[in-house]
Amino acid sequence: MITPQVSPTDGQETLDRLALVYQHVQTAAEQAGRRMADITVVAVSKGVDAALVGTARLAGQLDFGEARARDLKARLDHPALARSRWHFIGQLQRNDVPKVVGNVAVIYSVDNPELGRAISDEALRKDRLQRCFIQVNIDRDPAKAGVEPDKAADLIARLRTYDGISIQGLTTVGSKQVDPHETYGRLRDLRDDLRARWPELIHLSMGMSNDYETAIANGATVLRVGRAIFGER
Ligand SMILES: *Cc1c(COP(=O)(O)O)cnc(C)c1O
Repeated sequence: MITPQVSPTDGQETLDRLALVYQHVQTAAEQAGRRMADITVVAVSKGVDAALVGTARLAGQLDFGEARARDLKARLDHPALARSRWHFIGQLQRNDVPKVVGNVAVIYSVDNPELGRAISDEALRKDRLQRCFIQVNIDRDPAKAGVEPDKAADLIARLRTYDGISIQGLTTVGSKQVDPHETYGRLRDLRDDLRARWPELIHLSMGMSNDYETAIANGATVLRVGRAIFGER
């Protein structure tokens, strides 16, 4: 695996890196016997200059990720970036729910019923259906957010009773102490188990700059790639 050098970039460098990431995704997809059409690259733009994000957008990149509600709002207020597809990948505070719901394609960090309920209520107020992923602490790392793997089914059963949200997949941030191949394989197995009960659980969001090829080999449908595109934060 060739990892591009990560350092602050100018526009051309961002475009080169973006192209390289897509090349790597394509190669990894081919090796895994998977189709590019089943894999979405979310360009994680947190902390990145708006001009650089705009450059990626103009080059055709559609999906972008932000981790904080305030930063998301700044992106949505930016004329060149508003017509992009935004993904909320960070921990969502209850008081930020109104800023995010209805403004993003997917909220990634749902790990408890109260947050799911708040998202659903806000979506219903806006007459929307908000897509969400369940964040799972698949490595049981005390430093990481997410529902414990054996409690995921109960959480989903509960969330499915809320009309304003649709739970469509699982996501995780792996522990640094665990081999990503193991982490991602476990998340896929859990998703497969849960999907036998709830067929709408099609997505697996896993894989970041350092390990997205491993994630593809394990069935990732949504990658979240920041530094490999925009350089070191
Ligand atoms: C920042 C972030 C990423 C991207 O990480 P990189 O190492 O820059 O690719 C992915 N997922 C989450 C939840 C993040 O906060």
